[in-house]
Amino acid sequence: MATELKNDLFYTWYKIDELVKAVKSGSKTAESLVNKSLELAKKFNPEYNVVISLLEDKAISRAKKIDEKVKAGENPGRLAGVPFIAKDNFLVFGAETTAASNMLKGFIAPYQATAIERLESEGAICIAKANLDALAHGTSTENSDFFTTLNPHDKTRVPGGSSGGSAASVALGIVPFALGTDTGGSIRQPASFCGVIGFKPTYGLVSRSGVVAMASSTDTIGVFAQNAYDGSLVMDVMSGKDDLDSTTIEKPIKPISQLDLNLKGKKIGVVKEYFGDGLDKDVAEIVKNSINEFEKLGAEIVDISLPSLPVALAVYYIVVPAEVSSNLARHDGQRYQYSASEANDLNESYEKSRSQGFGAEAKRRIMIGTHVLSSGYYDAYYKKAQTVRTKLINEFNDAFSKVDFLAGPVAPTKAFKVGENDDDPIEMYLQDIYSVAANLVGVPAISIPCHNVSGLPVGMQLMAPQKSDASLFALAAQYGEMK
Ligand code: GLN
Repeated sequence: MATELKNDLFYTWYKIDELVKAVKSGSKTAESLVNKSLELAKKFNPEYNVVISLLEDKAISRAKKIDEKVKAGENPGRLAGVPFIAKDNFLVFGAETTAASNMLKGFIAPYQATAIERLESEGAICIAKANLDALAHGTSTENSDFFTTLNPHDKTRVPGGSSGGSAASVALGIVPFALGTDTGGSIRQPASFCGVIGFKPTYGLVSRSGVVAMASSTDTIGVFAQNAYDGSLVMDVMSGKDDLDSTTIEKPIKPISQLDLNLKGKKIGVVKEYFGDGLDKDVAEIVKNSINEFEKLGAEIVDISLPSLPVALAVYYIVVPAEVSSNLARHDGQRYQYSASEANDLNESYEKSRSQGFGAEAKRRIMIGTHVLSSGYYDAYYKKAQTVRTKLINEFNDAFSKVDFLAGPVAPTKAFKVGENDDDPIEMYLQDIYSVAANLVGVPAISIPCHNVSGLPVGMQLMAPQKSDASLFALAAQYGEMK
């Protein structure tokens, strides 16, 4: 982590490997780790609005079970006793799962996400559910139907979004890692704003089962961590094929301990289109300088172009609302939580439930999505967007035949002020300009904290070919150690 960030105010955890060793040896109990996390959550939450709900009883009772296992000489797992926070769009069995939307408020998960299941089966303990932009639509957490999370480095600014609560919880040190979802940048951008590692995997690497669907062809599940080693370990545990999600792939990810970290002869392509108009000058400078630092580790830095990149945002804001409008059809006031009470018939119930339960941003996306899918407009918008998406995939493939990694900024600005973009959806959408391409083409991407700009963190983005997820953690680990 960059030393000049104000992290000395916050808690820094030992590496997860060391925590687990301590739990396994009995020198630390799982219960003490969980209590520490709960204490930090209670200390920071009133100030920063990070979590929607605490899972205190469940977490303590799970920790006690882990400690009993240790005492009985049984294997408590690779993440024994490690506390974490999940974005509130992950179903955690028996816990409220709201996706920060009034539509789901009070909804108790009847089963649990595969990602949570896999982490728990290795002994990790979910202590809380984090705030987000409602239904993961947004870049600041201001779209949360409940409250706005504040940036740990400056309380007048947003933490980014949509996984802003998860990013802030890791920056504050409430937990060593947190889960997020990234459909168009929702892990990387808040990671950049909060100064932590944020990782979005290859599409299909982690099962989407049990995670509230946003846009099924770009939704991915990833991690925020205090260091690259922890992030890679958590991804290793969560990833791999799952019968409950037919798009999942075999896991190629390896923990860093099993990787060749040598960067000699590796090429990093600095994407020309990422440094055009609209990028803040100070962000551009710091990101360029930081990418160049990889030369010291033996990598070669070259220029590269992805000509269709400037239209990726337009493609995203057609394809994603189209899928959003389809996925949100299930929230009809009959199947899930919110249902308008005063309706006279089924149609009126649908109408009232949806108009009262959804916030403005969800409604905007449903309208855009149904419009671009409607007959007469389908060819002009949706089909054209899918054609350009294929062009983008080809351009990325071409680029990766020349370089090992692609690099650029995560977002055009550092953390902006609460309220600054709140009434301007286009300004908010422009935050996603550098992040959406990785989702449209399905490649892994990471935000690595570089130096800060006027006291605020800024991340750089590195992307790799599909299934080269682990190599991004290797880059982040080396970069972190060089600083
Ligand atoms: N900010 C983007 C959007 O609002 C990305 C959201 C996400 O990745 N969940 O669509």
